[in-house]
Amino acid sequence: MRTIGLIGGLSWESTADYYKYINQGVSEQAGGLSSAKCLLYSCNFEEVVQLQKAGEWKKAADLLADAAKKLEAGGCDTILICTNTMHVVAGEVQEAVDVPLLHIVDTTAAQIKKSALSRVGLLGTRYTMEQSFYTDRLREHGIEAVIPDEADRVRVHDIIFEELCKGELKASSKTEYLAIIERLRQKGAEGVILGCTEIPLLLKQGDVDMPLFDTTRIHAEAAVEFALETVVIA
Ligand code: GLU
Repeated sequence: MRTIGLIGGLSWESTADYYKYINQGVSEQAGGLSSAKCLLYSCNFEEVVQLQKAGEWKKAADLLADAAKKLEAGGCDTILICTNTMHVVAGEVQEAVDVPLLHIVDTTAAQIKKSALSRVGLLGTRYTMEQSFYTDRLREHGIEAVIPDEADRVRVHDIIFEELCKGELKASSKTEYLAIIERLRQKGAEGVILGCTEIPLLLKQGDVDMPLFDTTRIHAEAAVEFALETVVIA
C-alpha cells in the first residue's frame, strides 16, 4: 500500500473527515483490519488565514511547500492539500517535491464527467469562486462553473470562516445555502460543487435534488484509489 501525505488543518474540522474517509475507504476495499498508511502535517489555520487576508500568496506557498517537503521526507508517495482554496498555490507545492500532488479539481472534475454534467455551480471561499485558479482548471476539463452573485459569495465565504471552520453548523445558514443553490440552478447549474472542504459538514446530498459534488469525500476517495494502486496519477 502506498502512503498518503496530507497537508491538513485547513481547517481541522474537515481534515478529520479526510482521515475518516481515507481509512473507511481502505478498510472497505482492502478488507480485514486494513487501515490507511498516511502522514498528516496539520498547519495552524490562523497563520494561513492571515496570509490569505493579506494577499500574501507567496508566503502561503512557501508555508505549504515546506509542509509538503516534510511529508515527502517522511516517506509519503503522494500529497493532498486538504482544502480547495489553497490549491491556489498547488503549482508551487508540486514544484517543491518529487511525489505527485493529487489535485482536488482534477479528482472533482473526473466525478462530474462521470455524471455527464458540464455546467455546475461552485460554492467555496471568495478566493476559490473569484480567482481563476479553480474555474480555469475546471474549464480545462470541459466544465463550466456557475458562480453566485456577489452578495451570495460574501455570505457563502463568511459562513465558512465564521461558522463552519469553527465547527458551528446552523440551520439558518443551511437555509441560506439552499437558497443560493436554487439561484445557481436558475442560472443554469446542473449540479453544485461543494468547493470548500467544510461545506459538506452542513449540506448533504439528501438536502438538494440535484447532484452535489462533495470535494472532501471525492478527494479522499481518490487518495484511497492511489494508495491501493487502483489508479495511476498521470
Ligand atoms: N477548507 C476550505 C476550502 O476548502 C477553506 C479553508 C481555506 O481557506 O483554506 O477552501
